[in-house]
Amino acid sequence: MKLARLDAGPEIFLSLQGEGKNQGAPSVFVRTSRCNLYCVWCDTPYTWNWRGAGFAHVAARDFDRDLETIELHVHEVAARVQSFACRRVVLTGGEPLLQAQDCVSLARQLKASDPRYQLEIETNGTLAPSAELDAVIDQYTVSPKLDHSQVERSLRLKPAALAAFAQNPRSVFKFVIADAADVRSVRELEQQLGLEPDRIYLMPLGTCAAELSARRPALAEACLERGYRFSDRLHIHLYGNRPGV
Ligand code: SF4
Repeated sequence: MKLARLDAGPEIFLSLQGEGKNQGAPSVFVRTSRCNLYCVWCDTPYTWNWRGAGFAHVAARDFDRDLETIELHVHEVAARVQSFACRRVVLTGGEPLLQAQDCVSLARQLKASDPRYQLEIETNGTLAPSAELDAVIDQYTVSPKLDHSQVERSLRLKPAALAAFAQNPRSVFKFVIADAADVRSVRELEQQLGLEPDRIYLMPLGTCAAELSARRPALAEACLERGYRFSDRLHIHLYGNRPGV
């Protein structure tokens, strides 16, 4: 698997899930490298914004692909995950579904070693899971990207993939919200996909506590009005915006 590098090893770490349905739950995170989108505010640009690629990003920084990537066999990834006592695992990125077959192998190995393992995938919702993958994943946190990502719409919103996630009861949808226009975009997707409002989480855009706090009141109001759920970014408040937490 191609994983993000953290110091001398892969970015596999124990932390509290900071976002969405399982916020606050101790979880082992496996950060895959590579993404098929290029969100301008992405907080993990070191998984995709390679030197020379020319993507715009708020940090105005690009990364050396070889220095930022580490490639491990699935059994090595499993062994690192198993070194933690925690049985909740979050496959995140980047975009983990770009390495779907490796995700299947990893989930199978973990569940074979201990059936208590629970696997969550955090995805941008552009790639539908295969039946093989779906058989071993307990939760999808699907985060379709809105206009403010500055990614071309036809790349970030894939109707067939979104419909597959919408029809899967193990999916919840989490949207990064900057302003009222984003809430209107969520409403449109809610209607197009036939989503129940309580499967939708609104989360403020921001990579520091002050930015998150400034956006909270408007999001709370929108959640109350529409029946959506509110998600903060707990890890930012606890640890700041840095890899490995
Ligand atoms: S989809 Fe996620 S990982 Fe990919 S560029 Fe956007 S925010 Fe970053």
